[in-house]
Amino acid sequence: MFEHVAPYAGDPIFRIAAQYQADQRENKVNLTIGLYFEDDGSVPLLDCTQAAEKHWAAKKLPRTYLPMEGLDTYRDGVQRLVFGEQSEAYQSKRIATIQTLGGTGALKVGGDLLHEAYPDSQMWISDPAWDNHHAIFGGCGIKTNKYRYFDAQTQGVDFEGMMADLAQLPAQSFVLLHPCCHNPTGADLSKEQWQQLIALIKEKQLIPFLDMAYQGFGQGLDEDAYAVRAMAQAGVLFLVANSFSKNFSYYSERCGGLSVVCKDQAAAERVLGQLNAWVRKNYSNPPSHGGHAIATVLNTPELYQGWVGAVDAMRARIHTMRQTVYDRLTELAPHYDASYMIKQQGMFSYTGLSSEQILRLREEFGVYMLDSGRISVPGLTTKNVEYYAKSLAAVV
Ligand code: PMP
Repeated sequence: MFEHVAPYAGDPIFRIAAQYQADQRENKVNLTIGLYFEDDGSVPLLDCTQAAEKHWAAKKLPRTYLPMEGLDTYRDGVQRLVFGEQSEAYQSKRIATIQTLGGTGALKVGGDLLHEAYPDSQMWISDPAWDNHHAIFGGCGIKTNKYRYFDAQTQGVDFEGMMADLAQLPAQSFVLLHPCCHNPTGADLSKEQWQQLIALIKEKQLIPFLDMAYQGFGQGLDEDAYAVRAMAQAGVLFLVANSFSKNFSYYSERCGGLSVVCKDQAAAERVLGQLNAWVRKNYSNPPSHGGHAIATVLNTPELYQGWVGAVDAMRARIHTMRQTVYDRLTELAPHYDASYMIKQQGMFSYTGLSSEQILRLREEFGVYMLDSGRISVPGLTTKNVEYYAKSLAAVV
């Protein structure tokens, strides 16, 4: 049985991370995996989630099933966080939100819903992409394609190319967009560009799917939700996947949300029913431990404030590392333009290094980044950032 089944090549990120693990050098640097690390190299366990977990455990509740859509308090917390409490879409109850298994689970259930509702539509994904976007939507039965996104010359968004590609799509095409902290490039649209894109989306009647995996890691929790809120305000109907993996440092608890902005409350109720049908078919209902903790934090003012402080601190550390690399490279290798470190934002940056340079960094210096030249900035700390800057200066 299964003789015809091909071996799984594995995810390239984990392959390079394994090479890093096997490296015996003490000064090796891991910039591969998308995890947030503290300055001492540890992955944080936030005070707010610890307090919330304790609070929930003390209640000694039986572990019965959650509803298919998840906890009401969680879902309401997601809507307030993503759309803002003052948002008209939130106030008029025209958003259908479910608690999902991380951002990935939200993309999968959203993809299932989209494919069933619009079986002839195809999905358009930024080039380059988080590779799993193609895999997830392909798994929903949706044909995926690429639109131009990154300009290697400016190391920013190729906005003209992006708009030109999207302008050609048939009505009701699905468009995957990153509201902030684009993975893998770190290059984001400006507010003005979002407004132009929203106008195009309306004109061409496209269906946007916003994937917000890093809310709070760019400019702030509210600031990073600009695109979501502007789109809702403009009357666009769309989907948003949000993840708590990074901003709650809660990776393995698999906490995220899927929100579908609908025309009115009646439509949102129908859509919620269909989301539940897809949840039932996929995994029946979400797990409760992390869900309760997140819901408690989102609904308890002191814990919420603690969480906002933790996100602010994570973002500030990332900014400091970005600025330090930029400053050091300006001194060490003035011919090399490292301004991408401060222009791009979030966990990731595209260094624009060649394959040879990336390989040299790995082999000669023990500095590990992805083959694409993507670095995960929180892998840098006050201990290794000078070494990283010097290694980079040596190969450019
Ligand atoms: N979307 C993007 C762009 C991501 O980078 C990630 C995480 N790597 C996800 C979705 C998935 O998030 P989660 O780990 O919560 O499933």
